[in-house]
Amino acid sequence: MVYDIVIKNGTVIDGTGEQRYTADIAISEGKIVKIDRQMKEKPLEIIDASDHIVCPGFIDIHSHSDMALPFGNRLESTIHQGITTTVIGNCGFSLAPVNEDRIDLIKKEFEIHSPPGESIDITWRTFAEYLDTIEHAKISSNIASLVGFGAIRIAGGPAYDDRPPTDSEKEMMRYYVTEAMEAGAFGMSTGLIYPPQVYATTGEIVALAEVVAEYKGLYFSHIRGEGETVLEAVKEVIEIVERSGCVGGQIAHHKVAGRHLWGLSKQTLHLIHEANKRGISVTCDQYPYDRGSTSLISLLPPWVHVGGVNELLCRLRSPEACEKIRAAMENTKSDWENIRVEAGWDNIFIASVKTEKWKDIEGLNLSEITKLKGYSDTYAALFELLLDENAEVTMTMKSMGDEDIERIMKSEYVMVGTDGGGVAPEGVLSHGKPHPRHYGTYPRILGRYVRKKGILTLENAIYKMSGFPAKRLGLTDRGNLQEGNWADIVIFNPETILDNATYLEPHQFPTGIPHVIVNGTIVVKEGIQGEELPGMVLRKSNSLH
Ligand SMILES: [Zn+2]
Repeated sequence: MVYDIVIKNGTVIDGTGEQRYTADIAISEGKIVKIDRQMKEKPLEIIDASDHIVCPGFIDIHSHSDMALPFGNRLESTIHQGITTTVIGNCGFSLAPVNEDRIDLIKKEFEIHSPPGESIDITWRTFAEYLDTIEHAKISSNIASLVGFGAIRIAGGPAYDDRPPTDSEKEMMRYYVTEAMEAGAFGMSTGLIYPPQVYATTGEIVALAEVVAEYKGLYFSHIRGEGETVLEAVKEVIEIVERSGCVGGQIAHHKVAGRHLWGLSKQTLHLIHEANKRGISVTCDQYPYDRGSTSLISLLPPWVHVGGVNELLCRLRSPEACEKIRAAMENTKSDWENIRVEAGWDNIFIASVKTEKWKDIEGLNLSEITKLKGYSDTYAALFELLLDENAEVTMTMKSMGDEDIERIMKSEYVMVGTDGGGVAPEGVLSHGKPHPRHYGTYPRILGRYVRKKGILTLENAIYKMSGFPAKRLGLTDRGNLQEGNWADIVIFNPETILDNATYLEPHQFPTGIPHVIVNGTIVVKEGIQGEELPGMVLRKSNSLH
């Protein structure tokens, strides 16, 4: 047989966590067909991997590439990091299901994350139609999807009302979760600091997670608090998994936010360990940076968001409401995720805006912006910025400590995820200064935390990037380099691999990753991405149906 590709002379790290070894890898018809020493056969193409590591393509278990896909299917910033499978639908945000009658609410929700002047053309309604749309458009890497609780609550529940669902709304939401799971979702995600999800009680979520459990799906969560309330928030995930009977829970981008709370990761990881010991499977993902990133309106207390973004903007026009907001954001003991208190104005930076008026503030913190623009106080600057921009502003917030980052990274329950997505240095997806995690997550761990700091071994780091997330998702034919598996492969130089993206200059590809292969097709060759779009839409095959 003539192989399509043979990767020669590489050092193989197979993704299971086992020690490296030297071997050649042959690929045919998308699959790994042979792993052996010194293959003699002549293939159609040879990749020389001397002095390089050959490992499974990375599985980004926490991505927001769904926000980028309507504007570009090449996923440049993620494929250049070596990501060959992307899990979308995280933090409760997914682009499906869509209820015709509430399409404007969901559109506004996504517009915050769309490029300037662009809006998503929502042609689908059901989750199945959404997955078909992605498949039809083609993509550079594989996609797996979760259904987002935010989309479910908007489509079938109380939407942005701060109240529990009625019985018929509860049934409607359960129907939408069922439809998504039938269509191949791998589970449901929540983002419990984000309206409208923040209005849901634990019980409201359990009722939906029960449906996920019937399909042996996972419960993913951006938990209710990552600062003052992080311990209760971790306990809530454990409770939801336990009460619903889900096969497992995943804590998104695990962190401790707020300088005065640094060190609490000892206790969060202990809670997770104790849960696992009791048979409640809970794992986490993490990106290796000390700043988070989200929409700027996440600074505002939950009541300001009632009714949706347009009503939020109305409140910002009322001086009385603004006084109330200011008082709530000054309260150091709030019962909601008060990011202003966690980070402080000096550590909240604007990542992207859409109007020319505010273009020059990208990359600056809110104290600097207040001064630069001549405001008397920061709240006045914040409110005017949000009104001018129709609330479509994103931020990064410096709130994490290195010790927590490294402790979490080393935990046996933690895998890697970007919490970013596919953006690009050129074109419509190149706007603003997005968090550097969009470009640098994986090479940053391999370069800074493995090579320079020795926090993880290379074998363990790669397991956290491939074999571990594959196992978590139940993917049996990806994530490990093994004969018969799909040929999702990264070839990188362990001596030079490094992230280059920074907070001020984020649109930069990493160093040291010459080749990325997806389903047996070379997508990045000698560091250059071609036109190939070999990605597949992965659907969870479930044993019940
Ligand atoms: Zn999140």
